[in-house]
Amino acid sequence: FILYRLQPQVKQLDGARVGLMALTSAVDEVISLLDCSDKPYIRSGSIRFPSLTQGICLKSVDFYYNPDEKPALEDMSLSIPACKTTAIVGPSGAGKSTLIGLICRFYDATSGEIYVDDYPIQELKLDDWRHQIAIVSQDVHMFSTTVLENIAYGRLDATEKEIIAAAKLANAHNFITQLPQGYDTKVGDRGIRLSGGQKQRIALARAIVRDPQILILDEATNALDSISEHLIQEALNTLSQNRTVIVIAHRLSTIEQADQIIVLNEGRVTEQGNLKQLLKLNGLFARLYNLQHRNVHN
Ligand code: ADP
Ligand code: MG
Repeated sequence: FILYRLQPQVKQLDGARVGLMALTSAVDEVISLLDCSDKPYIRSGSIRFPSLTQGICLKSVDFYYNPDEKPALEDMSLSIPACKTTAIVGPSGAGKSTLIGLICRFYDATSGEIYVDDYPIQELKLDDWRHQIAIVSQDVHMFSTTVLENIAYGRLDATEKEIIAAAKLANAHNFITQLPQGYDTKVGDRGIRLSGGQKQRIALARAIVRDPQILILDEATNALDSISEHLIQEALNTLSQNRTVIVIAHRLSTIEQADQIIVLNEGRVTEQGNLKQLLKLNGLFARLYNLQHRNVHN
């Protein structure tokens, strides 16, 4: 989770050959200090949060990164039901990652409310809430250490058995066992070079090892070939069974499997429904859908 937010800083530290695994807590501290400088302070609430039962709900949320510019999210109302898969689609700059940032409480809404079950999100204990969430983003950082430790970064006290189980779920186990030293193979800058698809599956395993209630993929499969994408999709089908999954993706194969699709454009929700309903609307989604289908068949 911290990785996602702080990739640039962490990358620099890793480059400087800092023994990162041992220094995680120190790094977190430094990073949270850095964080306060460019973001408004995010306050923790006091409600302990055991599990998401109903879902996440936005009510007329506006969000401005900068009060002098136009809002990144405007009058946004939507609901993300628990234990279902929601796909979020829309052109670049539509506000998809910003929405994720608000759900994770990297930022708080400028106005409007976000509810988690019946609680306003800011009333939850911040650590508790963030503990439920794992994110896989497009840009995966590999530490210069073994595959095993790269996965364990998701939860430092994970056992080897749990790590391997996570890798299996992420469809990564097979390729890992074929590496020269299997799980002990060094990767990253001074190790073996992994393909984009392999890195994404390690990132997914890193997320799975935390067993999060809420799994978010922010354009995690965009740059992948169709075989890697298929492997991740397959993994998602298993993972989504008892979990709330939010997936931001362009590929239709991912979107088609979702229980619900939310279409964003210029910071607003323009369409929301399942595939059939959205195609019937014949709006932005249907246009994108037909365009991609034509490309697939040509
Ligand atoms: P998407 O993920 O759909 O491509 P984003 O949520 O990243 O869109 O961006 C939504 C809008 O907010 C865009 O206009 C973008 O330029 C702006 N934006 C995104 N991140 C920041 C930031 N850290 N500071 C200022 N503006 C930002
Ligand atoms: Mg984005």
